[in-house]
This record gives sequence, C-alpha cells and structure tokens, in this order.
Amino acid sequence: MNYPDDAFEIGEVRDFDRLVGNLVVTSGKHLIVPAKGAPLYWPHQQLPWSLEDNQTVHHLGIYNGERCFSVDIPETRWGESGVDLAVQKTSLRDYLGKIPDGLFRLLGRALQINEWYRSHRYCGCCGAETSLLSGERALGCDVCGQSFYPRLSPCVMMLITHGDHCLLARNKEWTRPFFSALAGFVEPGESAEQALRREVMEEVGLQVGALHYFASQPWPFPGQLMIGYFADYAGGDICIDDIEIAEARWFHYQDLPQIPGEFALSGQLIRAFVDRCTALYGA
Ligand SMILES: [Zn+2]
Repeated sequence: MNYPDDAFEIGEVRDFDRLVGNLVVTSGKHLIVPAKGAPLYWPHQQLPWSLEDNQTVHHLGIYNGERCFSVDIPETRWGESGVDLAVQKTSLRDYLGKIPDGLFRLLGRALQINEWYRSHRYCGCCGAETSLLSGERALGCDVCGQSFYPRLSPCVMMLITHGDHCLLARNKEWTRPFFSALAGFVEPGESAEQALRREVMEEVGLQVGALHYFASQPWPFPGQLMIGYFADYAGGDICIDDIEIAEARWFHYQDLPQIPGEFALSGQLIRAFVDRCTALYGA
C-alpha cells in the first residue's frame, strides 16, 4: 500500500453540509474497505452504495490534503446488488503496525465516532430521541437537555525502571510469551499520576518514586487515550495480583523478551528506555 504523505489533522470539529472528499465506511465494529485493499477509504463518487437522504455522514478531518468523512452502512444493506463483490469487511486490528500512523488514526476516529452516533440515538436519561448539536461533536436531548459526547477512556501506561533494568509483565489473557509495560484505567476522581501509583501497587505490589511523562496515544479499541510514563522504582518486592497479571519480572535492557511493536506506546516506551541505557551503559 502506498501512502506517501500520511498527514492527518482533525482541524475544526464541525459538520460540513457539502460532502466532497473521501469516505471511511464502517459497519458496526468493522471497516468496509474496497476489495482491492487500498486505499482503505472511498472517494465519494466511487462508493458502491447510494447514501440515503437521511444517512448521517460525519466530518473526520483532512487526510493527505483531502477532506474525509465517515458513514456507517448497516449489515442489512450489504446484500444490495453487486456490493459484495466490491467490498471486504475488515477489522482495524488487522492493520496494527502495517499502515502509517495518520491513516490508523483516521480509521480509528471513524470507528469511534460512528459507534458514538449509533449508540446514542436515544437519551440514556429519559429515552427521547437525540439530535446532533451544531458547533460541537455532541448529540443532545431536546426533552431533558442532556448532551452526549464521544466517549474516551483515559488509561495510564507505565514502564518502571531501576538502573539498567525495567519491569515487564505478561497478561493472563495473552496466549503468547509476550511482555509489556503495565497499564490501567484512570478511575473517576483520580489524576493520571494517582492512577499510575495505584495500578502499580495493585498489579505488582511495588512503590514508585518520580514519574516522567513520555507521550500519549489514541488507542481505538474501543476508545482509550493511553498516557505513557516512566516510573522510578522506589521500593517493595514483586507481588503479582494473580487477576490480570500472570508473570512480572525485571529485565536487563540487553536481554529483553518479546515486546510490543513500535506502533504501540508500550513498544515506544521500552525502546526509549533501551536507547537511554545504551547511551549510559553502552551497547
Ligand atoms: Zn433526555
């Protein structure tokens, strides 16, 4: 696949009355892409479905200089004449680490916005039908005044370091011998830093000292914002929770197990740690 520029900007968040540009098509949790496999979205005129008059199209932003929109096509419409030959149903996970970052964010944004729209057509408080508010990405209830925004779940990710070692853990649900940094959701009423210290204590029983912010990353499975830190080890012995964590160990930077790819924030954290150690202690 050829995506030479890969620049994606959300820009001004509002809907455009004129649909000119490319469409990212979803159907529930799936992406519907052209059968030939690239470019994973549809030039507006080549869409194999006619858009119904009441079909809502959402503005996503600008990808490689072109405006992009998302639309959700229900599975009941796949049987329309000829359509099945021209499309394939895929999952965003299939593209992890295989497509450029900007394109991945574009597709993830389309899935999240369409999911938000599909699941908030009725007010969760009074049951009345909702409608799109103008000027912001929100659905509002005319009856009781509630607004519903796309849902994001902040999640902290932390690489605990101690000199030339870092702590990596294997999750119980992973079938492969694969280790990563620790992670956990931020609870209501908590700062990211408080969530980090709590998660570290719960999952591996350690205390951490100074925290060093690294980077954040949208993670559309289904709507996390990963917030990455390095955390200095401060005390305690590893004591795993036995609920989420199957195994947690200290690893020397030159003797790491199988770790996540560079596309994931965890992979970036671990590689940054290795680079720092290599500069300090040698290759
Ligand atoms: Zn309501």
